[in-house]
Amino acid sequence: MSLKSFLGLDILEQEYAYATNPITGYTNAGKIPDKWVKTTCGYCSVGCGMHIGVKDGKAVSVRGDEDHKANFGKLCPKGLSEHYTLDSKDRLKYPLLRKRGKLVRVSWQEALETMTTKFREVQERYGPQSLGVISTGQLLTEEFYTLGKLIQLGFGTKNYCGNTTLCMATAVAGYKRSFGSDGPPGAYEDLEKADVVILIGANIADNHPMLFQRLEENRSKSLIVVDPRVSKTAMMADLHLPIKPRSDLALINGMAHILINAGLINNEYIEQHTTGFANFREFIAKYTPEYVSEITGLDEELIWKTALAYGHAESAFIGWTMGVNHSTKGTETVNAIANLTLLTGKIGRAGSSPFSITGQCNAMGTRETGFTSGIPGYRKFESAKDREEIAALWGIDAERIPTSRGLAYPDIIEATVKGSIHALWVIGTNPIVSYPNVDVLKQGLKDLDFFVVQDGFHPTPTTELADLVLPAAIWGEKEGTYTNSERRVSKANTAVEPPGEAKPDFHIFLETAKVLGCSDELFPGWTQPRDAFEDWKRISAGRLCDYSGMTYELIEEHGGLQWPFPAGCTDMSTKRLYEDGVFPTDDGRAKIICSDWEPFPEQPDHEFPFVLNTGRTVEHWHTRTKTANVPILEHLSPRAWLEINARDAKRLGLRPHHKVDLISRRGRVRHLDLRITETVAPYLVFMPFHFAEWNVNTVTQSAFDPISREPNYKQCAVRIERSGE
Ligand code: SF4
Repeated sequence: MSLKSFLGLDILEQEYAYATNPITGYTNAGKIPDKWVKTTCGYCSVGCGMHIGVKDGKAVSVRGDEDHKANFGKLCPKGLSEHYTLDSKDRLKYPLLRKRGKLVRVSWQEALETMTTKFREVQERYGPQSLGVISTGQLLTEEFYTLGKLIQLGFGTKNYCGNTTLCMATAVAGYKRSFGSDGPPGAYEDLEKADVVILIGANIADNHPMLFQRLEENRSKSLIVVDPRVSKTAMMADLHLPIKPRSDLALINGMAHILINAGLINNEYIEQHTTGFANFREFIAKYTPEYVSEITGLDEELIWKTALAYGHAESAFIGWTMGVNHSTKGTETVNAIANLTLLTGKIGRAGSSPFSITGQCNAMGTRETGFTSGIPGYRKFESAKDREEIAALWGIDAERIPTSRGLAYPDIIEATVKGSIHALWVIGTNPIVSYPNVDVLKQGLKDLDFFVVQDGFHPTPTTELADLVLPAAIWGEKEGTYTNSERRVSKANTAVEPPGEAKPDFHIFLETAKVLGCSDELFPGWTQPRDAFEDWKRISAGRLCDYSGMTYELIEEHGGLQWPFPAGCTDMSTKRLYEDGVFPTDDGRAKIICSDWEPFPEQPDHEFPFVLNTGRTVEHWHTRTKTANVPILEHLSPRAWLEINARDAKRLGLRPHHKVDLISRRGRVRHLDLRITETVAPYLVFMPFHFAEWNVNTVTQSAFDPISREPNYKQCAVRIERSGE
C-alpha cells in the first residue's frame, strides 16, 4: 500500500477519472479507446455486431454496432463485458507438454512434432480410425473448413465430430429428414412479423437476450411458450403451456390432429410440395385432444387454443432450442414441428417458419463447412455424385472421401472406453464439465495413449488431464467469419494480439499440416483466413449455403449477409429458404414424417422421485471458462443452485438457502444452494449446467437420440438430501 493510500489521500484518480467522448459520452477515461475495431460477438448464435475499444494495445470496452442487422446496436451483459475475457488470468500463453507427470512449457515446434508423431504412431499401430477429434461451435468458419480437410484428408480419420452434437445435431438431423438439407429456413425478422410466435423449450430471455428484444418489438403478436418451467420467457407469454417433461412431441402431434380435423390445413401446399400426408393423416388420428391431455398434463382447452391460434394465424413462427434438442426423441420432435409448417404452408414466407435457435456463435459455420456429419457445402457422404464433385473441386481422388460419416461425439467417447480410439484431440471445448454422465468420459480419457487439448484457457478441468495443451487465440484476437442462427455471415476481426505465444486456431492447423507434410496439397499458398474463405466460396457455389457472391468487405459494409448469396447477388434484403416450395430432396418435395411420442428413458421412482431439468442463466456461458473470468458476471452468479417447488420443500423439511445434495444412479452433486420457487412444478427440479464445481453432469445419464446422437440431458431421475456439514 502506498503512503497516500495509507493516509486516505489516494482517491484512485487514474482508475476512476471521467472524461467526455463523442462516442462513449461521459464515461470512465480509462475506457475511452484510441480506436474501435468492428467485429461480431463470440458467445451465442444471435451473432450481434459490436465494436471493441482498444487503448494502448489493450481491449478496454465494447459497444454494439448500430448498423449490424442482428442486433442494431444492442448487446446483452455477456457481450457488453466480453473484452474482459481477453486478458483474464487463466489465458493459456504457451504450449504445455506432460513430462514426468507435469505439464511443462515447450516450443511450438516440439509441441506440433510431438503431436503429429504420437498421432501417427497410434494410427500405424491401431489403424487410421484410432485417432478421434472433437471440435466446437466457436471457431471461425475459415478454421472449421481448414480443420475438416486436415483431419479427414491429412490425418485420414473420419472419427471427427464437434461439441455441436451436444446442442444442435438434432436440429440438423431433423431438417435433413424433413427438408432434405440442414439450414434454418427463417429469419429474425420473422419474430417481428409473425402474428403468432410459439417457442418450444426455448428460454430466449435468458439464453438469446437480443433475440428476445427483437421479439418484443412485435407488439401485435401472440406469444405462446411451451415449457415445463415458468422460465423468464414463459413469464412474458400470452399463453404458457406448462407441459409435463418431454411431452412436446405429443402436444405437436395433437396440434396436427386438430388442424387436420378443423380443416385448418393448406391442401394446395400439401399436394404440390410434400409427400407422406395420407400416411400421416391415418397415423395422427390417435392423437386426440383427450389422449394428448393425458400425456402432457395440459387441459384440452389449452391444446385446442394453441392449435387454433396457429391454424388461424396468417403468419406463425415456431422456434425451439434445447428443450426439444436435448432428448432421445429430439429429431422426431423437430420433424413434428416441420410437419405443422408443411401442413399449413407456414414456411418460406415473412413471419412463417420453423426455426432452430442455435447455441454457439458459429455452430452454423461448422455445419456448413465442417467435414463431420457431412461433406462441406451440405453434401452427403452417401452420395457418389457429391463425393466426386468435391474431389474434383479439390483436385484429389474421389476414393479419399469417406462413403459414410465417422463416429459421432458420444460414440467417439464410447470408443475410447472400449479401446478402439487411442488418441484424441479436443479443440475449444471442455467435456469434463459438458459431457453427460461424465464418469464414463473420465474412464475413456484415462486409457488414451495421447490426449491433446487446444484451448484459450488453462487450467480447465479438461486441459488438466491432457498430455499436450496448445494455446489458442480467442475472439478479439483473430479474423474470419461467423454464421448466426438466421444464416447471416458476419465478420470477426483482430483487435489485440493473443497473449504470449498463443496463435489463432487457423495458424495452428496450417502449421500442423506443414509438420504432417500435407500443407502444399491441402492448403496451397494459404497464409491467411481470407485464403480459406476464398476457397470455401468456390466449394459452396451452387449449394444451398452459397457464399460465392460474398466478400469480407461486403459482409462488413452491410451488417452481415445471409446465405444463399450467389455470385452477382445484389439483394441485401432478408432471405428465407424454400420460398418457392422446392426442397433439396430427390423429388423436390418436403416429407411429412410420422413420429410417435414415448416416455423419456429414466422415469422417476420411489428411490429417485424427482425429474431433473437443466439449463442456462443469462450471466454465464457454457462451462464458464470465459465468464468465470469476467468479474461482473461472476459476481452476479457465483455458484450453482437447485430450484424446487415450495410443496416439495415443505414435505422434505427444506428452507431457502439450505445446502442440498442432488443424487442420481450415477453420482452426487454436493452443497447446492436451495431456491424454493413456484417456477418449477412439484416433483420437478432445475439446476444450471455451467458450474464445474457443482457439475450437473455427475448425475445426468448416457442416453442419446438414436438419429442425431444428441444427449438426453433434460430429464433424469434424482433425489435430494440435505448436505452434511
Ligand atoms: S445476445 Fe448473444 S451474440 Fe448478442 S451480445 Fe449477447 S451473447 Fe453476444
